Formats: sequence, structure tokens, C-alpha cells
Amino acid sequence: MSRQDSVIVVGGGFGGLSSACYLADAGLDVTLLEKNEQLGGRASRLEADGFRFDMGPSWYLMPDVFERFFGQFDREPTEYYELERLDPHYRIFFKDGDRVDVTGDREEMYDLFETYEPGAGEALESYLDTSETHYEVAMEKFVYEDRPRLRDWVDLDVMRAAPVGFQLLGTMDDYVAGYFDHSKLQQIMQYTLVFLGGAPQNTPALYNMMSHVDFNLGVHYPEGGLGAVVDACVELGEELGVEYFVDAEVEEIIRRRGGFAVESATGVFEADYVVSDADYAHTEQELLPEHERQYDAEYWESRTYAPSAFLVYLGVEGDVEPLEHHTLVLPTDWEPHFEQIFETPEWPENPAYYLCVPSKTDDTVAPEGHSNLFALVPVAPGLADTREARRWYRDLLLDDIAANTGVELHDRIVFEEVFSVSEFADRYNSTDGTALGLAHTLRQTAIFRPPHRSKRCPGLYFTGSYTTPGIGVPMCLISGEHAAGALLEDI
Ligand SMILES: Cc1cc2nc3c(=O)[nH]c(=O)nc-3n(C[C@H](O)[C@H](O)[C@H](O)COP(=O)(O)OP(=O)(O)OC[C@H]3O[C@@H](n4cnc5c(N)ncnc54)[C@H](O)[C@@H]3O)c2cc1C
Repeated sequence: MSRQDSVIVVGGGFGGLSSACYLADAGLDVTLLEKNEQLGGRASRLEADGFRFDMGPSWYLMPDVFERFFGQFDREPTEYYELERLDPHYRIFFKDGDRVDVTGDREEMYDLFETYEPGAGEALESYLDTSETHYEVAMEKFVYEDRPRLRDWVDLDVMRAAPVGFQLLGTMDDYVAGYFDHSKLQQIMQYTLVFLGGAPQNTPALYNMMSHVDFNLGVHYPEGGLGAVVDACVELGEELGVEYFVDAEVEEIIRRRGGFAVESATGVFEADYVVSDADYAHTEQELLPEHERQYDAEYWESRTYAPSAFLVYLGVEGDVEPLEHHTLVLPTDWEPHFEQIFETPEWPENPAYYLCVPSKTDDTVAPEGHSNLFALVPVAPGLADTREARRWYRDLLLDDIAANTGVELHDRIVFEEVFSVSEFADRYNSTDGTALGLAHTLRQTAIFRPPHRSKRCPGLYFTGSYTTPGIGVPMCLISGEHAAGALLEDI
């Protein structure tokens, strides 16, 4: 490889930022082109009237992955941002008036579970120990190690893991029911699936390892929010020589002899290789000529997309006790909500939702005497979010918050912005406005996700949440490593 090798990264989400770092570190000239006015992708920031919102991710999970990422460049996350472990990790309001705090104290959690069901404390201990083992095996053998081809799965490690693996191909709801009968305990163990864009009925049991992430590894807050992690990745890239362009939407990727011409809103860029972090379907269907697409429209139509979201960012006067930094509000029967996302798309009238109040931890995100919060309801991708629907749903949500947490917001809102299906589609070129990409159903896990290396367009690679390992900030950092690895292997 010579210093002249050059690459254009399309899209500045975590997958793109990560790929750019690995490729620059390997000596390539890296140019990153981002459509929007800021880097970070779904982890964009909204600043207005003294409030600063992380618009997308707000849970800093799997700190081990961030340590490994920065470690690979001889850095540590603390050189860029400090972490605070949250206690409790989060609070749940069940809509029957019950309230639960999930903390990192396992004894406390065993006692809590025991109050719901005799033997549940012991069952939790066994569940979490198993979940830790699954996490360690999965991360080492199948997440950090990319296995893009069927033949990559035929080795000793896989054979050893196979008996457990087959057992984990069932669904999460069956797996969790094997440990706990009480529906609330089942919900506590299953809510993490929302991070993967799935439902207990369509997500394989192997994702029980998310409970190790949740209970054992803990929930942290990076000082300055998730935006500070974007800044850290950008700064690292700058140190390694990455050049960034914002407001540079790519319109066409043209392959020609010896490389690519990439037409963008700020001009034409040339490079030997392209890595796309933009949504896979958008890149294939809208940026490439038909003969260089690996999948047809039918393929993309037949995928199971992760939910979109109805988000309301709110700046409010006063505090919002008793909400915690992370709060979940759950109906005791949440199946109708999942059905309204995956089966019969409609606005959930009795929603399960998430409230994020970073001003509980960080006094720089709201003016003094104010709270910063957002509410997030997962909704079906492609749902029509007309002005009337948004207005109606916003009121329904504020009423629901008041009824189930006691926090009245209506009369003290000083800043408000709604972000939903249409904004996801417009701002991120996301298919059907999905917030997260392809759900982690069994048919869309591991080799069944679209590959990092294009099979039809040599020199083009993909990173980000549509690829392996999948959805979430830590996973996208790893996907950047895999995409860069595939490219470097081919040089
Ligand atoms: C509301 C919400 C909450 C979430 N919560 C969490 C959480 O708490 N914890 C967690 O770990 N994860 C969370 N996630 C998931 C996580 O944010 C994503 O999985 C991850 O950030 C996606 O990264 P990505 O690499 O796929 O790129 P994306 O973030 O999807 O970025 C892709 C980029 O490509 C750009 N682009 C698109 N088309 C073009 C084009 N033609 N030219 C140039 N650029 C283009 C887009 O503008 C975008 O900036 C959340 C996501 C959302 C939306």
C-alpha cells in the first residue's frame, strides 16, 4: 500500500467516524463527506435557548468497547471525556402504579426480584451469570471477529459454542419465560431489546447477553453527553489525519478505472475506495447505478426494519422529580405496542416509552432552574406522521407522563421540538424513517445482515448499523473496524 491510497467515507455516524480512524491510522488519505451540518449521524445535537439535547443515543453502554476502540490508537476515552456511572441505572414506572429502580447492586436486585416471585432472586443470579458468559464468548468470537462468509463459521470455536448457540436461536420471550413467570420481571429482562430495534417475539435469545450489559457493566454518562463521544471520535480522526466536510451530501458514487468519483453537494471528490456509512438501502438504491447494486428493491421491501420513533425534546421550567436520568414508562401489557410497531402499524394509544433527563446529571444541558428532557416512543417505520397526528400524539404523551409519573409538563414548557418518522427520513436518508436500521431478527443477524464488502462494486465497502455486528453506538464503532479491515485486506 502506498501513501497515495485514498478513501472517501460517506456519512459521519459512528460507523463512518470509526472506519475513518482505522483507515487513516493505516496510512490512507481519508476524506469524510457528511450530508448534515454536523458530524455524529443519529447522535446529532440540538442546541436552542440554552438547552443542549443529544438527539439520538443517550445510553452509554458497553464501556469496554469504547476502551478497546480508543486503545487501538494508543489512547484512552478519559483523554477525551470523563464517565460517570449512573445510580440507579434507570427507573421504571409501570402503569399500574408500581415503580422499580434497577441498580448495579446485584444483592439489591435479587431481593427486589424475590418480592415479585419466590425463587426469582436465584433465577436472576443464574440468568446474569449465564448472560455474562454469553457476552464474553459472543464478543470475543463473533462480534470483534468478523465472520462474513459461511466458511468463516466452520471452525473449532464455533463448534464449541454450537450447542449453546442452537439453544439461543429461540426467541427472547421463550428464553426469559424459562427463568421468570412474573410478567414484570419478564419485561425488565426484555426491555433491552428496544436497543436492538426488536420485540421479544422476533429477537433471538442470544441477545440475553444485553442483560449483562445492562445489570453488570452498568449505565454511564459521558460528561457533555453522547455528543462528547462524537467529538472524541472526530478529534481522534483529526489527530490521525482525517479530513471532514459537512453539508456535503453525496449524490452519486461513480466507479471508473482505478477508483471512484463521488459527486457531492460541495463538489466532486476522487478516491481509490469508498466506505459508506449512510443507510445501506439509500447507498445502494440512490447512489449507485443499478448494475452495481447487490440487492433489488424487493429485497429492501422485504426486510424487517427497526422502529422509527416519536421524539419530543423539551426544555421546561423547574425540576421533573421523580424522573431519573433514564426512566421507562411501561404498560403492564406491552404486546399491543409491539404489534402496532411490527404487525399492524398504528400510533400506540397506550405506549411504552423512554424519558431521558440529562439535566439530572449534567448542569450544562439546561439553563439554571430548568430541566432538559426528551420523550421517545418507538413507532412503526413508515407511519404517516401528519401535523394533526403529531399534535394529537404529543398531547397524548404529555398526558400519559402526567398520569403515570406525576410530572405535569404542559404549562411550563419553554422549548419544544418534535422529531419523528419524516425527520428520520429527511435528515438521515433513512428507509421508511427507521430510527435504527435493520432489526436484529434471526434472519437479519450475523451473516444474514448485508456485508461490509460490496459483491457487485469492487472497492466499495459498508459500515454502520445495517451491517455486522449491528445497531448501537458500540456496535457501529466495531462495524467501522470490520469495514476498514475488509478494505485493508483487499489492498
Ligand atoms: C433516538 C435514538 C436513540 C438511540 N439510543 C441509543 C442509545 O441510547 N445507545 C446506543 O448505543 N445507541 C442508540 N441508538 C442507536 C445508535 O445511535 C445508532 O445505531 C448509531 O449511532 C448509528 O450509527 P451509524 O454508523 O449507522 O450511522 P448513522 O448515525 O446512521 O449516520 C449515518 C450518516 O450518514 C449521513 N448520510 C446519509 N446519506 C448521506 C449522503 N447521501 N451523503 C453523505 N452523508 C449521508 C447521515 O446524515 C448520517 O449522518 C439510538 C438511535 C436513535 C435514533
